[in-house]
Amino acid sequence: MDKKAVTMDKIVNLCKLRGIIYPGSEIYGGMGNTWDYGPVGVEVKNNIKRAWWKKFVQESENSFGVDAAILMNARVWDASGHTASFSDPKMDCKECKTRQRADNLIENHSKGKVNPDKLTQEEMQAYIDEHKVACPNCGKFNWTPIRNFNLMFQTSRGVTDESTNVIYLRPETAQGEFVNFLNVQRTTRAKVPFGIAQVGKAFRNEITPGNFIFRTIEFEQMEHQWFCKEGTDGEWYEYYKKSAKDFLLALGFKEEHLRYHDHDKLAHYAKAACDIQYLFPIGWSELNGIHNRTDYDLSRHQEYSGKAMGYLDPFTNERYIPYVIEYSIGADRLMLATLCEAYDEQELEGGDTRVVMHFHPAIAAYKVAVLPLQKNLGEKAKEIYKQLAKYFMVTYDEAGSIGKRYRRQDEIGTPYCVTIDFDTLENGTVTLRDRDTMEQVRMSVEEVISYVNEKILL
Ligand code: ATP
Repeated sequence: MDKKAVTMDKIVNLCKLRGIIYPGSEIYGGMGNTWDYGPVGVEVKNNIKRAWWKKFVQESENSFGVDAAILMNARVWDASGHTASFSDPKMDCKECKTRQRADNLIENHSKGKVNPDKLTQEEMQAYIDEHKVACPNCGKFNWTPIRNFNLMFQTSRGVTDESTNVIYLRPETAQGEFVNFLNVQRTTRAKVPFGIAQVGKAFRNEITPGNFIFRTIEFEQMEHQWFCKEGTDGEWYEYYKKSAKDFLLALGFKEEHLRYHDHDKLAHYAKAACDIQYLFPIGWSELNGIHNRTDYDLSRHQEYSGKAMGYLDPFTNERYIPYVIEYSIGADRLMLATLCEAYDEQELEGGDTRVVMHFHPAIAAYKVAVLPLQKNLGEKAKEIYKQLAKYFMVTYDEAGSIGKRYRRQDEIGTPYCVTIDFDTLENGTVTLRDRDTMEQVRMSVEEVISYVNEKILL
């Protein structure tokens, strides 16, 4: 299928129809930029997270996982720089009272010709004034000056509302890995280079143009920090650039839908930064980032906490603060890319069409759908369902014609359908249908288990 025909509307509609993703708080009219994962979606997303963990923790010899608290000591965010500068330049429209991001206004007005990342706040203001950039909501030109709004959600701890009690919902998971550097190093006795990984929620009070789950105010990140010695950082940076792409290729992404994008403007502490972009329906956009963060994070935590964050090399007796290569990817953004990459519409013989999601079997919500050909085969089918469910996620469907049931499974990407017929009662064999080729093979239930177990390995 032509990639251009995969639109965001098609993905959003399929997600709603098939229990993949619903709008958040829907019965109350929704809540901007929040989404809820349904029975199918939660499985797919969990499988994505599991696949990532497998590659970057389980199969990575010297990487360890943590699950740090979302609410952290507020000093963490002073040290990381988020309190002072994690902000977006925003303007309020005095006419319709909506708030807009100045950088987005410039990017849209110049049709992508001006890169706002390269402009200072004064230059952004000058561009907007000179070109009389109007409000996209009401069409008027009557703005407040640009002001920086911090993106962290703030809340307060305890029962009083004093400013000393202010805490934040973490805007990234990375700091949970940095503040545990000493704990993990000591308890695992890991030697540099080693990695700390975490998967968890992050929160950003972002204004977004609403591209489904591409950018939301609550999302999950999968982050891996690799601690290494200065001088080896360049090599490790290249290694993680490649590993991040290899992971996507293993999930089934086509090479031509991925590209590297080196950052023009680096954060003051960063030595190198690169995104992997995916060809989303909204165009090429960031899927993940790889950053050489130098010794900035651990040095800052040393300064703000007063705790020595150095590592003592047991071979050379040298003490130093390691450099960090960060690899960070949003689980929800990868979910969206996975949905877009898997989506396909096919014409079948006889003029029928089908929507099919070509998920890698490791990612698909259900590995097998058990379908009795007739309702009076239900008892046997349920027995087989229970047998298979001990090994992997299985679904069961006895409603409607077998053709309709296949279509439903194709739409949620179930790689295998097992049909139960009268021969099953006789000799215990079932028919296994392959989602992509639609070919059918007869085999025993034991053979189904070993066949599927092999296919779901990533
Ligand atoms: P962007 O430029 O898109 O705002 P970023 O450079 O701020 O992203 P990072 O802070 O490096 O992103 O976050 C790492 C990853 O987390 C991103 O590559 C993306 O996959 C994901 N991510 C970041 N912000 C969001 C969000 N608001 N919603 C969903 N995923 C996000």
